[in-house]
Amino acid sequence: MLEIQHLTKRYPSGTLALDDISFSVPDGQFLVIIGLSGSGKSTLLRCINRLIEPTVHRSTVMTNVLAGRLGYANPLLSTLGVFSEADKQRAMASLQRVGIADKAAVRADTLSGGQQQRVGIARALMQEPKLLLADEPVASLDPAISHSVMKYIQQLNRQDNVTVLCSLHFLDLARAYGHRIIALKAGRIVFDGLPKDIDEKRFKEIYGEEAVEVNIR
Ligand code: ADP
Repeated sequence: MLEIQHLTKRYPSGTLALDDISFSVPDGQFLVIIGLSGSGKSTLLRCINRLIEPTVHRSTVMTNVLAGRLGYANPLLSTLGVFSEADKQRAMASLQRVGIADKAAVRADTLSGGQQQRVGIARALMQEPKLLLADEPVASLDPAISHSVMKYIQQLNRQDNVTVLCSLHFLDLARAYGHRIIALKAGRIVFDGLPKDIDEKRFKEIYGEEAVEVNIR
């Protein structure tokens, strides 16, 4: 599905954010990227993505989700905000799958954080993706909502066989949802394996001697 070989990224500031990263991801895998802040997780996902997310917060949820279809739509009509009936139905179906069809006509910036993340998932669904990249999708959410958002991503992975690369702050969530975990430290891979193989020793290697594992339930 995805093969990364000797990926290095140095920012113009001189920071070496990724230092010779190589790994491959098989079809259908749920891969979680962990590591301290600044270890390179976002840079890795951004390098794989090479795109900037469009920011259309002020428009309605429906328009947000339809924007996910832009690659497929007639460019002139979609610039004017005219989408086909089929696309609108597809957008409603996507919203239904993440449980917020009733919010279609609401302005996206009035939604809660968890609901906004679900709009993001619905928008991703519109592209019928083979690969979903999620950079700390639950970073600003409280624990109960975090699980709900993660479950929608898991559903995409399981039901649609979408390969997932997702960075997470909490090892606990990484263990609960990841088939596999890659840990970054200062731009290098320091662990690549099964969640269950991250024991106390590995944990300290990844997060430092002072770190203590916390659970979110
Ligand atoms: P993480 O997502 O794990 O917190 P990042 O990928 O954001 O890590 O950052 C990795 C390193 O690259 C850090 O040292 C960070 O300060 C630096 N960095 C990230 N983005 C930029 C940027 N746009 N310009 C310069 N340095 C950056």
